[in-house]
Amino acid sequence: MVVDTGADPELTQRRKKSELVESPAVALGRLGIEAADVEHVVLTHLHWDHAGGVHLFPRATFYLQAAEYHFWTRDPIGARPPFANMTDDASLQYLAELEGTKRLVLLDGDLEILPGIQCMSAPGHTPGQQAVVVTTARGKAIIGSDCAHVFRNYTEDWPSAFSMDLAGCLRTYEKLRAAASSPDIIFPGHDPLMYDAYPRIAEGVTQLV
Ligand SMILES: [Zn+2]
Repeated sequence: MVVDTGADPELTQRRKKSELVESPAVALGRLGIEAADVEHVVLTHLHWDHAGGVHLFPRATFYLQAAEYHFWTRDPIGARPPFANMTDDASLQYLAELEGTKRLVLLDGDLEILPGIQCMSAPGHTPGQQAVVVTTARGKAIIGSDCAHVFRNYTEDWPSAFSMDLAGCLRTYEKLRAAASSPDIIFPGHDPLMYDAYPRIAEGVTQLV
């Protein structure tokens, strides 16, 4: 199971984000996993740098919160410039074509989707942001994605202003802290420490727990 797809290099170049040049499919390949064989993909939210690679997973079932999907595909506000700039039309279209099929699962709140893997509604950064609670040898760890961009957002209780609802972010922090077995295994979405401070198991890949 994969959480978020990243963005493929072509989209990254178009967005002029040279630090995100690697294809997520190539990174998975270094772990011996073919993106084309992945069966389950959780999308934490639909910003382009998390959902822009959906087409790299042609067999996967995608799990996301209905509130997230509907905001970006149905709500006219989601199409206005400050929001439209954060998404990628091609990936939204890809998901829209899966609507009504088994490959698109729209969740309404918290749900264990596979043994030991729970999707948890965690709004704030976006209307239908979700986190993933994973049972590990160290207890329940949380892939928090952009609930926080860096660890300091959690430790200083100060969410990134790049969020649609700051009060919602803080409520989500309470929920994640209550669900995690330890605060140090709640992981943010964009912290370089996740590369630098954890054991490297393949080029560009670290083991967090
Ligand atoms: Zn985001």
